[in-house]
Amino acid sequence: MLVSEIMLQQTQVATVIGYFERWLKRFPDFPTLAAAPEAEVLHAWQGLGYYSRARNLHRAAKVVMKDHGGEFPRQLDLIRALPGVGRYTAGAVATFAFEMATPIVEANIARVLSRLLNFREPIDTTTGREALWQAASELVPKKDAATFNEALMEFGALVCLPRPKCGACPVRTFCRADPPENLPVKKARVKTVALTERCGFIASRGKILLEQQTGARWRGLWTLPAISDFGIQTSDLPPLARVTFPFTHHRVTLEVFKTTAPQPLKGNQSWFPVAALEKIAMPSPHRRALEELIPKLCA
Ligand code: SF4
Repeated sequence: MLVSEIMLQQTQVATVIGYFERWLKRFPDFPTLAAAPEAEVLHAWQGLGYYSRARNLHRAAKVVMKDHGGEFPRQLDLIRALPGVGRYTAGAVATFAFEMATPIVEANIARVLSRLLNFREPIDTTTGREALWQAASELVPKKDAATFNEALMEFGALVCLPRPKCGACPVRTFCRADPPENLPVKKARVKTVALTERCGFIASRGKILLEQQTGARWRGLWTLPAISDFGIQTSDLPPLARVTFPFTHHRVTLEVFKTTAPQPLKGNQSWFPVAALEKIAMPSPHRRALEELIPKLCA
């Protein structure tokens, strides 16, 4: 339950299913996950993005082993205290795994409640969120909370859609939405900013030079080395490959240039045989660039 909820935080169900099944085969329980090296955990996660979720799951497994004797806690505040577990995830695990009478508010429930209550405050502000959670707490029944929460989510997914089917709605007589299409209210969207990142493709004797990231985005993962480390100008050179990917409010273009290895290598840089690349944890954009370039340049 915890694994699926954390995987679903920023990824669609259809994408998550395969990862979830492979993850449970590789880490079937908390002792296995807690004992695994971080590189193995990140490798299992690669392709899902937002790697802090994998690190948090790994840390949560360690907390379960160390602080809870290997038993997943059954108190809402203790579940919520696990790394990477926010209010929604804690509530979902508590209600669906342990039948606790806890409210949950996710996108579907937020839309349904906003409309039923004709809630005019933006739901993505602190006060808007609090008011919705308060409303959900008042509504959740003491018995069968899981069924109630599931029903609210399904209602939002099937009837009270972004374009609501009010004509077929069983609760339209007491819905206050005016008009429903304008609800829920949200803050103005943050504009997406375009960014370009430049990396080097350095191959020698069947090996590729990579560097291990220490920054928050991809900490612990191996990527192509940043071009700034080579002191060369790229403006006159066409890139060998170009890969675009989204990251929070950015649209990042990764440009890869052919260059030579720095002398000496940096402490976080290392050569990897092409055949070994499959086994190391690497973010998808860098793996895509390598998959494009290796057949052309290392054949
Ligand atoms: S009447 Fe329309 S807006 Fe109101 S709850 Fe039903 S589907 Fe949603």
